[in-house]
Amino acid sequence: MEWKVRFIDYPAQFRKMEREIMDTVRTVLSRGDLMLRQQLKDFEAHLAAFVGTRYAVGTSNCTDALQLSLRAAGIGPGDEVITVSHTFVATVAAIHHVGATPVLVDVGTDHNMEIGAVEAAITRQTKAVVPVHLNGRLCDMARLMQLGGERGITVIEDSAQALGASFDDKKGGSFGLAGCFSFYPAKLLGAFGDAGAVVTSNEEMAQKIRLLRDHGRTPDGDIAGWSFNCRLDNLQAALLDLKLGRVPEWIGRRRQIAGLYHKYLSDLTELRLPPPPVEGGVYFDVFQNYEVEARDRDALVTFLRENGVEILIPWGGRAVHQFKRLGLRKCNLPATEEILRRALLLPMHTELSDPQVEYVAEVIRTFYRE
Ligand SMILES: *Cc1c(COP(=O)(O)O)cnc(C)c1O
Repeated sequence: MEWKVRFIDYPAQFRKMEREIMDTVRTVLSRGDLMLRQQLKDFEAHLAAFVGTRYAVGTSNCTDALQLSLRAAGIGPGDEVITVSHTFVATVAAIHHVGATPVLVDVGTDHNMEIGAVEAAITRQTKAVVPVHLNGRLCDMARLMQLGGERGITVIEDSAQALGASFDDKKGGSFGLAGCFSFYPAKLLGAFGDAGAVVTSNEEMAQKIRLLRDHGRTPDGDIAGWSFNCRLDNLQAALLDLKLGRVPEWIGRRRQIAGLYHKYLSDLTELRLPPPPVEGGVYFDVFQNYEVEARDRDALVTFLRENGVEILIPWGGRAVHQFKRLGLRKCNLPATEEILRRALLLPMHTELSDPQVEYVAEVIRTFYRE
């Protein structure tokens, strides 16, 4: 089917940047700068400056960024790590793969980690908490950092969806011991394949992660210990560095689109929209996704698709604890389960035009009118 409004439009973004992208590819390939070269160092420096941390270390993807961060923080077997179930399976997989036990807690009305639930889930085994800044909105980091500090619990941020988002003028990824980013193509800053990074202001963490991502190889040719191959390709880093310059403009456009959705849809009682973008508030949201809750969600999704609007259902309709074969311990997460029954993601990308947003809203209004 030809979509009238695509969920994400990769070719449109490529067309806009084609010349610069091809110039970058030509430069990198003609120099043969393929692994751990200057372009990677430049991107890491620019990313750290953008987020407001001292260091950034490029990795193969965000799942590996999370796993290496947990390892570098000394999390392993016997430890419990608290996170949410309303997230991509990757967050929980990273905890599982370091040998720790994931403890999943419920979310609040903004679809993010409920800090009270984190507090209630703390045991003597709790070593870390992984807040997931879902859809481009940060968790309540004031309360979470205070709780972590009081209880001696390490915070590792899953910032995969929150590049450029802030809480109290501090950017996502810069609160915890480490913050992890994804540059998967669909993310706000997307590579042309898999890519990720860890940001941190802790020198020891940065050093450990640089070793862990590259077989433990030290500059003097030694091997520091058993490690992994989780490097970020130099070519991807060069392209990400090029695109990073556009991120503030792209965030501005996403916030405009969120404002339009809010304007066209906020009077519908059948929908629950995310908080609209506000200037000068505590939260600065970047709208990686526009996740709404809807009455008769499944019928609405069918109607939107029939009318040419490409729609996604978060995680295919199930939170992580609802995937039975993962064998996670039983948990009681009523708010998460209710959201997964009601949530859908409306198209959200920088190439979306105002008339397209208006069209999506009109299809939704027609659905509830009939
Ligand atoms: C995309 C995403 C990840 C995984 O990122 P990859 O780069 O694909 O490994 C992890 N957590 C969240 C919340 C994500 O959205």
